[in-house]
Amino acid sequence: MNTEPAPSEPFQYDASVDPGEKRHVRYEVGESYLGDPIEVPITVINGEHGGPTVFLSAGIHGDELNGVKVVQEVADRYDPEGLHGTIVCLHVCNVPAYEAQQRYTPIYDQDMNRSFPGRAGSNTTERMANVIYRRFVAQCDLGLDFHTSTRNRTTIYHARADLEAPGVERLARAFATNVVLYGTGDAGSLRSVATADGIPTVTVEMGRAHRFQPVLIEKALEGVESVFAEYGLLPDEPVHWPGWYKSTAADTTKRWLRADAGGLVEMEWGPYPLVYEGDAICTVTNHFKTEERVVEAPFDGLILGALENPVAAPGHPLCHLLELDRETKAEITREIERGEFDGYRAHGDAWADD
Ligand SMILES: [Zn+2]
Repeated sequence: MNTEPAPSEPFQYDASVDPGEKRHVRYEVGESYLGDPIEVPITVINGEHGGPTVFLSAGIHGDELNGVKVVQEVADRYDPEGLHGTIVCLHVCNVPAYEAQQRYTPIYDQDMNRSFPGRAGSNTTERMANVIYRRFVAQCDLGLDFHTSTRNRTTIYHARADLEAPGVERLARAFATNVVLYGTGDAGSLRSVATADGIPTVTVEMGRAHRFQPVLIEKALEGVESVFAEYGLLPDEPVHWPGWYKSTAADTTKRWLRADAGGLVEMEWGPYPLVYEGDAICTVTNHFKTEERVVEAPFDGLILGALENPVAAPGHPLCHLLELDRETKAEITREIERGEFDGYRAHGDAWADD
């Protein structure tokens, strides 16, 4: 950032939040079947000093709750006093999906994260996405979009970012996850659309749907604070840097291991998600337990995501494995030895803190 103090300005949507003001709004993005307004809860915190405008979004998938808690905490924790810039908290973007506690917009199963920037004359989800994007996201300089794994799976705490797009690597590094998967992202995702519009945006993937996982929420709040520090919103806070850092392009060094037979899945890996070539990751047995297939690690790697629902058919994803170079392996091993490798529970079949 330049060192010139930026002038403080009102944040404009179709109303205006002045410097020094914090406002909670329910912003209408559509109507229910009954004709009642569908309103997105939004908090705008406009600092008393000028600086960048950062959005934080959650609930684009309605059952992914860790980020909803992160955004609630950010909206509560920060005030305009001492803040250099503006924070725009989009607490729950897909309200109908959230109320149904499901991933997609009910009935038509539309995916809001394939619907940005949306269009006014299009389907329900694109209309809602369009209002959110046009009124709020488009006024921002950078953003973080919070997700979890889809139901029946879990994911390691990591970021997804298009590290080659201008300004994105700085944001991803400042958020300070250990793992960043890079790629442009799916068409119509908030991350890919905003990044292409010159608003560097990083997706944060954290744990499971349908629950709050306090350790991950706390890590994400630290990451948010680190981003605010890096971009000068909180000039007196330190930027956190991850102890180890691994960025990897989509599909080059990671692989989904899939079941080849139907049956019951038992996870064998653990307590930490670091596996070595030939290690048993899980077994799939038939119901008579007369046949067993052992799924082995094809290379030394980190388990990024794993099946939680313990039944599988051929083709079901069992685990998502990231290949590790020797240096990263050594750093992870040191962290495990020092007891600093957090975010996991010491049992092979599950992740931390619920
Ligand atoms: Zn999601």
